[in-house]
Amino acid sequence: MNPFHYQRATAPIDAIQAGSAKNTKFLGGGTNLLDLMKYDVEHPSTLIDVTHLPFAEVTANPAGGATIGAGVRNSDLANHAIIRSQYPLLSQALLAGASPQLRNMATTGGNLLQRTRCYYFMDIAFPECNKRSPGSGCGAIQGFNRIHAILGQTDHGPTGPDTCIATNPSDMNVAMSALGATIHVQGPKGKRSIPIGDFHRLPGKEPQLDTTLQPGELILAIDLPPARFAKNSYYLKTRDRQSYAFALVSVAAGLDLDGNTIRSAGLALGGVAHKPWRSPEAEHALTGQPATPETFRKAAGLALAGAKGYVHNAFKIELAQQTVVRALTLAAQGVQA
Ligand code: SF4
Repeated sequence: MNPFHYQRATAPIDAIQAGSAKNTKFLGGGTNLLDLMKYDVEHPSTLIDVTHLPFAEVTANPAGGATIGAGVRNSDLANHAIIRSQYPLLSQALLAGASPQLRNMATTGGNLLQRTRCYYFMDIAFPECNKRSPGSGCGAIQGFNRIHAILGQTDHGPTGPDTCIATNPSDMNVAMSALGATIHVQGPKGKRSIPIGDFHRLPGKEPQLDTTLQPGELILAIDLPPARFAKNSYYLKTRDRQSYAFALVSVAAGLDLDGNTIRSAGLALGGVAHKPWRSPEAEHALTGQPATPETFRKAAGLALAGAKGYVHNAFKIELAQQTVVRALTLAAQGVQA
């Protein structure tokens, strides 16, 4: 363990001022960051504890949606009356993640910032990892890549200085993508709002960056738009065991139905890319169509267009399509997980 300073912030402006110092990180529930510090992957010199900031409420907002404070614990969010009744997709996704103990600690802001569980990133015994050590190569491309990406990856071979096939591990992020969340942040240059689709990144040429947050920016709150999918949504997570496992593939499916016709749809996949993989093409293909297996199969094909697998994860291309069809089918039936 490397030595570090700990500060507890009691006002947002104090946290932002302190957080803009070099090599400083904000500390929420610590369920990911502290592990990475123990594994010697992260080495902040200062931690700013933001769990005492006034960000622990879920409220109905004037736009007709909901506002979630960044400090709301995952358990509290999953079980909040507004979320359970208006956004069951989000509640289901949260309850599919981690364990009760971890959900009691983890915060909404921290969950947005979860880092990949790529084995080669998490274990410093492997020297090749462009995310941990930019320019060092990628151990996963020719290693054990069962949990890795099939969409949107950067693949210039194992020694490529920007190669990365890591996946975003969060369930919550997938549901928030399908729901069209907006993330409000504040940093040294002021406040801004980021649509969730622009918050997480694909690896591109900078796989070391997971998000578009600028140095010192603190997540304040997350807005959900007015609920469209309260009656017809489903979060389906396929994994190697039924609990306390990350997704091989997950699908957040929301349908706004007029009888059997789809007025609009939200569809995002987890476990397949460096960011939650929302598919506008699939959503467009669903819109205005009857909620039938044929419609769902077409959407699944579009969602996985261009997918590329590796030795241990090529099966995820077919699995993801089947999971999309199943999730849409259950959503259309109004089944609650
Ligand atoms: Fe590192 Fe990304 Fe390769 Fe994993 S997939 S070893 S995180 S560069």
